[in-house]
Amino acid sequence: MNVHEYQGKSVLKQYGVTVPNGHVAFTVDEAVEAAQKLGGDLWVVKAQIHAGGRGKAGGVKLARSIDEVRQHATEILGKILVTHQTGPEGKEVKRLLIEEGCPIEKEYYIGVVIDRATGQVVMMGSEEGGMEIEEVAANTPEKIFKEYIDPAVGMLPFQARRLAYNINIPKDKVNQAAKFMLGLYKAFVEKDCSLAEINPLVTTKDGRVMALDAKLNFDSNALYRQKDIVALRDLDEEDMKEIEASKYDLNYIALDGNIGCMVNGAGLAMATMDIIKHYNGDPANFLDVGGGATTEKVREAFKIILSDEKVEGIFVNIFGGIMKCDVIAAGVVEAAKQIGLDRPLVVRLEGTNVELGKSILNESGLDIVTADSMADGAQKIVELVKNR
Ligand code: GDP
Ligand code: MN
Repeated sequence: MNVHEYQGKSVLKQYGVTVPNGHVAFTVDEAVEAAQKLGGDLWVVKAQIHAGGRGKAGGVKLARSIDEVRQHATEILGKILVTHQTGPEGKEVKRLLIEEGCPIEKEYYIGVVIDRATGQVVMMGSEEGGMEIEEVAANTPEKIFKEYIDPAVGMLPFQARRLAYNINIPKDKVNQAAKFMLGLYKAFVEKDCSLAEINPLVTTKDGRVMALDAKLNFDSNALYRQKDIVALRDLDEEDMKEIEASKYDLNYIALDGNIGCMVNGAGLAMATMDIIKHYNGDPANFLDVGGGATTEKVREAFKIILSDEKVEGIFVNIFGGIMKCDVIAAGVVEAAKQIGLDRPLVVRLEGTNVELGKSILNESGLDIVTADSMADGAQKIVELVKNR
C-alpha cells in the first residue's frame, strides 16, 4: 500500500527523522492558511499524488510570497500531472503539501528495501541525490553504497556513520545523518514497510539534515497489524477495479493488456497469463477467484472484468477441484445477463461438475466459444480479439 508524501513524513517524524514543517491542503484557501501558519518568507507547494517525478512535471513549486503560494496552489490543484511514474493518462492532484522552504546545501539519496538474495533489509545511499536512482545505478554504480542489516541486532550506529561517510556527508553533520538513518530503519521495520525512499535527503545551509521527500510503501500482508497506516489509505489513488475486487475478497490485479482473464488458483492464473503471452496476446488482468468462490463472487469478478474498457475479449480458464464448474458457469451467466456480454468469451472448463457447468453455459443462449485445453483456449481468444 502507498501513502502520500505528507503522510509518510508524519510517520517518519514519529521516529525522530527530521522533516520540514508543513501542512496538507485540499483547497487554495487552505494552502494560503497553511503558509501563513508556517510563517517565514519561502514556501514549497507540492502536489500530493502516489507517484514520483513531480518536480520535473511542474508539481513542486517554490513560492516567495503568500501571493505566489496562492498562484501555485491554484495552478497545481486539479491539474492532471503526467510524470514518468503515472503513465500517459496522468493523475489528478487533489491534495497539496505546503512546506517551509529550506536553503539546500546538497541533495543526497537514501533508500531502504528488502534484499531478497540475503533476506535482509538493506539501506542504500548516494551523494547523487535529487535525480533518478536508476540512472545513478546504470551510469555510476560505484556511487551507491549499501549497508546490509542483521535482523537480530538491527542497524548499528557504526553502519549508519559508515554510510554517511561513504556518501560524503560533511563531517560536522555525520552524527545528525546517522541519527536520521537509524530512525528511518526503525520506522521501516516497525511499520512493516516494503520500501522507504528519501530522495532527496538534504543538508541545509543552516546546519540541518532532513528528508525533503519521502516515499513509503507498506507490505499489504501486514496491514492487519498496522491500523494507523490503513487509515492513511487514499482510494482516489487506487484502481477502482482493484478496490471493487477487494470488497469481494478477489485476488485481482489490473494490467495493461486487452484479454480479461478469470481463473481459479494463483498458479493457474499465472500460467494462463503466460500462455496468452505465448500466443502473442496481452492479459488485461490477473484474477484468481479462489477455491471456495460462490456464484455471487464469480458474478462480481466477471462484472469487474467487463467494466474494464480495455478488455476486448475474455478467457475463463477453470480447473474445478474444490471449485465447482457449475458455480463458475452460473456466475458468468448471471453477470452476462445483468450487464450484457458484448465481447468474445472463450471458456475452458475441466474438473468437478464439468458436464453440469457446460450445460448451464449451453442453455444460457450466450455466444460462448468453448475450448478443449488451456492452449486451445488461449489461441482462440487471441485470434478472436485480433479479428474484432
Ligand atoms: P519528486 O520530483 O516527485 O521526487 O519531488 P521532490 O519532493 O523530490 O521535489 C523535487 C525537487 O524540488 C527536489 O529535488 C528539490 O530540488 C526541490 N525542492 C523541494 N523542496 C524544496 C525546498 O524546500 N527548497 C528548495 N530550494 N528546493 C526544494
Ligand atoms: Mn523526490
